[in-house]
Amino acid sequence: MGFELDLSLPLHLSIHFFMALLSGLVFGLIFKRIRLGLIAGILGGFLIDLDHVLEYFFVFGLKFNLTDFFNGLQFLTSDKIWLIFHGYEYFPLLIFLAYFLRKKEAFSFFLITLAFAGFVHLISDSYINNFPPKNYSIIYRASKNFSAPELLSPAQWERNLKAKAKLGME
Ligand SMILES: [Zn+2]
Repeated sequence: MGFELDLSLPLHLSIHFFMALLSGLVFGLIFKRIRLGLIAGILGGFLIDLDHVLEYFFVFGLKFNLTDFFNGLQFLTSDKIWLIFHGYEYFPLLIFLAYFLRKKEAFSFFLITLAFAGFVHLISDSYINNFPPKNYSIIYRASKNFSAPELLSPAQWERNLKAKAKLGME
């Protein structure tokens, strides 16, 4: 059994927010574009989690219930983990695009910072959620058909089943 951090959501999000600011700040200072760095950092390192909201709409259509959302009902209902922004695969693409657009310096800088902040986010997620790093590859998740029981550890899947039972889902 791995080491379980099991942090509360506000703490989890605070860590992401702090790391996002830090990622943006580091790149911003290096390239002397602090404001743009911070924007890219927050976007890539924090707002990347908006795919949790998208996942909710994929599963339930255009209605929203905040309690259900925070209970992760979108994941419990579909037994899938899509999380379309969570994937290492975007980073080489962003870096390639940054190189391709290197004449547009600010834009290029923005893409590189976005990729770095996103990468830091996925590594943090892997630690905080105690998921193997490979779970944050979209290709890997696709190879498992995005199936939660296949991607989660037996203990984590067990916890999902308990959460479902508690919510009266099965
Ligand atoms: Zn995340």
